[in-house]
This record gives sequence, structure tokens and C-alpha cells, in this order.
Amino acid sequence: MNCLFCDIVRKKRPAQILHEDNLVMAFEDIEPQAPVHVLVIPKKHIPTSLDIKEEDFSLIGHLFQTACRIARQKGIAGRGFRLVMNCNREAGQTVFHLHLHVLGGRGMHWPPG
Ligand code: AMP
Ligand code: ZN
Repeated sequence: MNCLFCDIVRKKRPAQILHEDNLVMAFEDIEPQAPVHVLVIPKKHIPTSLDIKEEDFSLIGHLFQTACRIARQKGIAGRGFRLVMNCNREAGQTVFHLHLHVLGGRGMHWPPG
């Protein structure tokens, strides 16, 4: 299967990795949209949030916990940050391997664009 983020998990493609354990990985977004822009992904290939199964629930909890750890490490937890998970085309999903964007370090707009 041809998947950009599976290639990063398998170290076939370089990334600036901030955290890795047996379940998830966090790395810098290659095209940052904010001073802090980190992607947190499960190592397991799950294409979209629509594909999350009950057996993945603890993995998804760990994904969120890792995102919050990154926010604390980056010093944006207290100021505030945004967690974004785009699903399918109209939401702007371009990589079909589940990922949580951790965005912060500047004021965020609402409603989102
Ligand atoms: P999305 O549009 O929600 O699917 O987000 C995909 C994100 O992956 C975008 O923010 C891209 O900038 C980012 N991205 C694409 N290729 C890479 C890569 N090789 N390393 C790190 N981030 C990437
Ligand atoms: Zn994948």
C-alpha cells in the first residue's frame, strides 16, 4: 500500500520526529500553518475518522494524550491550542492516514476557514 505516513512510520521517509512509542508517532508538519504545527498519527493505518473501530478506542485516547503532551512540551498548553482532524475532501484531508494536527503559538480564528 502506498501511504506517505506509513512510510514515515517505517522510516522509509524522513521526518522531524518528536515522539515515538509502540502505538503512535508525532512529527513536525512539513508545511506549518502556525508557529507550532505537529502531526500525531497512529502507527496503524486507519484512513479516516470514519474508519475508527471499537478496538481502536484506547489507541485514539492515547493519540489525544500524546497531542496534549506535545502541546505542553511546546509551551502552548496554557495559552491554548487547536486539535484538528480533517475527514475527507471537503474538510481538506489530503493524507488518508489518520492524523491529529496540533496547532498553536498564535491566535486561532473561529469559525475555521
Ligand atoms: P490533511 O490536509 O489534514 O490531510 O493534513 C496533511 C498534512 O500533512 C498537511 O498539513 C501537510 O503539510 C502534511 N504533510 C504532508 N507531507 C508531509 C511530510 N512528508 N512530512 C510531514 N508532514 C507532511
Ligand atoms: Zn498509512
